[in-house]
Amino acid sequence: MSDAIILRSVEDAQAAVLAHIVPLGTETVPLIATLGRTLAEDIRADINLPPFDNSAMDGFAVRHADVAAISDRPAILRVVGAVPAGGVATTAVEPGTVMRIMTGAPLPPGADLVVPFEDTDDRSTTSLRSEGRVRIFQAGEPGANVRRAGEDVRRDTLVVAARTVVTPGAIGVLASVGAANVQVYRRPKVAILATGDELVEVGSVPGPGQIRNSNGYANAAQVIQAGGEVLQLPIARDTAAQVRAQLEQGRDWGADLFLSSGGVSVGDYDVVKQVLTELGALDFWRVRMKPGKPLAFGHVLGIPLLGLPGNPVSAMLTFELFGRPALLKMSGRRTLFRSTITATVADRILDRGDRRQYLRVSMQQNGDEWIAHLTGNQGSGMLSSMLHADGLLIVPEDTPVVEPGTRLPVMMLGWPEVDPREEQPPSAGDDVCC
Ligand code: AMP
Ligand code: MG
Repeated sequence: MSDAIILRSVEDAQAAVLAHIVPLGTETVPLIATLGRTLAEDIRADINLPPFDNSAMDGFAVRHADVAAISDRPAILRVVGAVPAGGVATTAVEPGTVMRIMTGAPLPPGADLVVPFEDTDDRSTTSLRSEGRVRIFQAGEPGANVRRAGEDVRRDTLVVAARTVVTPGAIGVLASVGAANVQVYRRPKVAILATGDELVEVGSVPGPGQIRNSNGYANAAQVIQAGGEVLQLPIARDTAAQVRAQLEQGRDWGADLFLSSGGVSVGDYDVVKQVLTELGALDFWRVRMKPGKPLAFGHVLGIPLLGLPGNPVSAMLTFELFGRPALLKMSGRRTLFRSTITATVADRILDRGDRRQYLRVSMQQNGDEWIAHLTGNQGSGMLSSMLHADGLLIVPEDTPVVEPGTRLPVMMLGWPEVDPREEQPPSAGDDVCC
């Protein structure tokens, strides 16, 4: 055991965990399965986007020379054909003629702009349509309403770089350049182990002295949100033999990471520490944070193990701060940490300790300002405080009191969604009259 007494900063502990984590291998999957995953290859455009000059409007493909002189009098031109989307004109637009063209259809040779139907008599009852002619009332410059080949993306350019997280927008771009199967980083496989003689499964009613295993579920949900695959190991009782047996099961499944909860503080039955020391290598730290002081990290059966504390809030917060970045690094991500914003604290916060606090807050937007409200009792066992937490308010070390109105950082877990109709503050001009 090393550094058991020294309190590490959160950043030191994060760096120490991440130093032992490497990106996993890659696999090739169908395009739609890449959503939310990290690209492992550079994708270049195999063609121009759009592939050909085409119309941005439904209207007429015309020659600029024929419409340049329109003033009070419309140009009257002969309609010689029609090009639907998916069609190709077989003849050119000669002087004095136009072709009907639909959005997305290739611009016929000879034409250099498109006049939308709205700027013609096409829809009027007195149109010249029956005579095969059209009146054009106004027209743009050459190139108007034409999308040029390669204007969006040029052939051979890098469209999505390796290490990019795939969004729906990226999927659309990848589809348009023909990336039917794409190489991505593998999802981390995480074996989750809840330890404790007092734990019973969710489907059971706890007997005297027992509680339900909530950590296994909360941590599993966090792993899934971070892009991992979960194996929920059976609850391990507080014996080295059970912890070891469950970990072996996790290894056989192919775990990339063990995530345990409980058994890492300084009580009598803290067997995770014991097993790590006996079977592998243990780093045990006390991290200068509240909640979540004890944190174990090491390797067992050749697999990294992150030993989270048992208290439910501590288990979730330490996953956020240490587990999530580790999973993202395994998944090939470059950006490992949540974004932090500055918010105005709504409540008075007192603390006697010297550790950095991570308090659960719900966030409310007030114009340009974000207000952070504590979500009830902040004890490390008060799991309901996570229920409405949009973020974690970070109160620096050695801050005995925070007054309402103080500006502090909040690490955002998610952004509150609001109905804009409810949130719109009435503006000055909206005063109801009289
Ligand atoms: P430990 O770290 O094992 O001493 O546990 C600290 C506290 O967390 C105790 O009150 C445990 O009962 C509780 N705890 C441990 N594991 C879990 C779990 N899987 N689900 C809910 N509470 C737990
Ligand atoms: Mg325990």
